[in-house]
Amino acid sequence: MSKNEQRVKGIVLKQIDYKDNDVIINVLSQNGKLYSMYARGIKKITSKNANAVLVFSYSDFEYFHNQKGLHTLKTAKTIKNYFNSFKDYNKIIVAFMLLDVVNDVMTMTINESINIYKLLSLSLENINTLDENLLLAFFLVSIMKDQGITLIVDSCAVCDSEKVNYISIENGGFICHNCLENNNESIYDLEILKLFRIINKISLDDLSSLDFSKNNYKQILEIIYSFYNNYTGLRIRNFEKLIMA
Ligand SMILES: [Zn+2]
Repeated sequence: MSKNEQRVKGIVLKQIDYKDNDVIINVLSQNGKLYSMYARGIKKITSKNANAVLVFSYSDFEYFHNQKGLHTLKTAKTIKNYFNSFKDYNKIIVAFMLLDVVNDVMTMTINESINIYKLLSLSLENINTLDENLLLAFFLVSIMKDQGITLIVDSCAVCDSEKVNYISIENGGFICHNCLENNNESIYDLEILKLFRIINKISLDDLSSLDFSKNNYKQILEIIYSFYNNYTGLRIRNFEKLIMA
C-alpha cells in the first residue's frame, strides 16, 4: 500500500451522483467517524465496487486519503447489506430516515461517535422485529442524548414537582399544572405520558418488551420529533408522510 492508502469498514449512509459514472458516498465507520469518498466509474456495468457503495451496505473500503476530506475510493467489498433484510415498505421508509438522521447529525460535527455507529447498526438489525415508529422515536432520543440534549422526564422541568401533567417542548420535558404558562400545551393521556418517560430511559434491547398500542407509538414519535426538530434544528425528509400514513 502506498503512503496515503488507508482502509476502513463502515455503513454507506448516502450516495450522490456525480458526472456520468461517478458517485460521492458518505460512510459512517465502525469508530463512528464520517468519511466522504469519491468513487469513480461506479455506474459502468463493469464496476466491481458498485454493490459495496450502495446505501445500507456495510463494506470494507480501501481508499486514498486526502487531508481536505474528500478521499478517493480504490476498492470496496460488501460484508453485509442491511437493505436485503427489510421485510416491508414501512421498514424501508424508516430505515432510510435513520441513515438521513445520522448523515445530517454527523455532517454538522467534527466529532466521532462510536455510540451513533452502534445505535445505527443495532437499529438496522432490529427494525424488522420492532414497531418502526417506536424505533425511530427511540433513535431520535438517543441521537439527542449523544448531542448533549437530555429531556426532563422525572419531574416538572420548571419547579421539580413530581405531579406532571403536560409535555412542553419549550421547557424540555414534563411540566406540572402550576407551571403551565399558556394553554397551548397539548393534553395527552396517561399512556403517552408513561411512554414519554420510558422512551427516554429504556435501552434498545428492552424496546421489544413494551406493549403500547400502534397509535401510541405514532403519537410519541410525533412528540419526540418536535423535540428533535426544535433542539437540533434538523428536519427529516418526508416525515409528515410517515405520520399521515
Ligand atoms: Zn412545575
